[in-house]
Amino acid sequence: MDQVKAYAAAHAAAALAPLTIERRDPTATDVRIEILFCGVCHSDLHQVRDEWHATMPTVYPCVPGHEIVGRVTAVGARVARFKPGDLVGVGCLVDSDGTCPHCHAGLEQLCANAVLTYNSPDRHRGGVTLGGYAESIVVDERFVVRIPASLDPAAAAPLLCAGITSYSPLRRARIGRGSKVGILGLGGLGHMGVKIAHALGADVHVLTRSAAKRADALRLGADAVIVTGDEAELNRHAGTFEFILDTVSAPHDIALYLNLLRADGAITLVGAPSEPFTLPAFSLLMGRRSLSGSIIGGLAETQEMLDFCAAHAIAADVEVIPIQNINIAFERLRKADVKYRFVIDMASLRAAAD
Ligand code: NAP
Ligand code: ZN
Repeated sequence: MDQVKAYAAAHAAAALAPLTIERRDPTATDVRIEILFCGVCHSDLHQVRDEWHATMPTVYPCVPGHEIVGRVTAVGARVARFKPGDLVGVGCLVDSDGTCPHCHAGLEQLCANAVLTYNSPDRHRGGVTLGGYAESIVVDERFVVRIPASLDPAAAAPLLCAGITSYSPLRRARIGRGSKVGILGLGGLGHMGVKIAHALGADVHVLTRSAAKRADALRLGADAVIVTGDEAELNRHAGTFEFILDTVSAPHDIALYLNLLRADGAITLVGAPSEPFTLPAFSLLMGRRSLSGSIIGGLAETQEMLDFCAAHAIAADVEVIPIQNINIAFERLRKADVKYRFVIDMASLRAAAD
């Protein structure tokens, strides 16, 4: 067992604070990774604050972090795909049963026995898994992906969750040239959604509360911006969208956006507000519209997304922070005050005295 430095929350109202945690010795199929950067996803905030208590109650101490980029420092005897020195990534998943139809289809995220990077039962050490706000992590090689050399490692970290969570539903909806796509919410996921949808050739419209994000949205690759508080502007687009990716982290009026869909159009939810939606039947019936959800992506698709991002020179717009500023970052993330992803530089944790 290795003792490593991490940051953890002791309870739902606690600030994140230093904590020494244990990492297992690598098994024959494990890879040990020195973490260089870890993105700060809104899911980290939901989980640390126990906002998903009804579905995924948080076990404390909670070490969040599932947008991990690092360097391989050791590999188990049977690891064939990685060697020390490789630049690799780990996202939201660290294990699955590997035997069910979903795993066979490369859809590990749908496996009933999938193990999340944090707050999932840890079959090696007991307790729950502990995430990437730490110096290092040990992960089965099946759940490790390769970071293309052309990507900046800090800007690549958010691809491991925000990137794949946007890419997977856009691909599944067969978005391409000519598709009128809405990206609802311009945060970490949303800004990756804009970049990816633009690279896929879509006509991309950002739907945001904030008129102040207009210039950024256009710079990120949007063709147009709709401020959601402007009813007249929304009405002008009624019945026109093929697809809307809903990345909003808080309760909102889904019917308002269903009405923007054309016949057979679809909204896919990736945002995970803790409160239920109000869903008027007619906003689905009229126009035969659909509403679905999506959860990250499988491992093969995650590698495909990384290679796609490298080919299109896409990565996240990041604000790199020392881990000592994580509580300020959480507060700013809660207020949607980030352009567009905080990424922790883990050198700050290694250098810390405590
Ligand atoms: P984020 O950076 O905080 O972005 C969320 C965006 O939602 C904000 O930038 C804001 O956009 C909009 N928003 C926030 N509060 C709002 C409100 N009260 N009303 C309307 N809009 C609001 O968060 P993120 O990291 O992108 O994550 C977004 C959500 O996706 C979270 O719930 C997270 O847990 C979830 N998530 C899901 C998956 C999955 O696999 N399904 C993976 C990762 C994250 P504007 O200012 O532009 O309006
Ligand atoms: Zn995430």
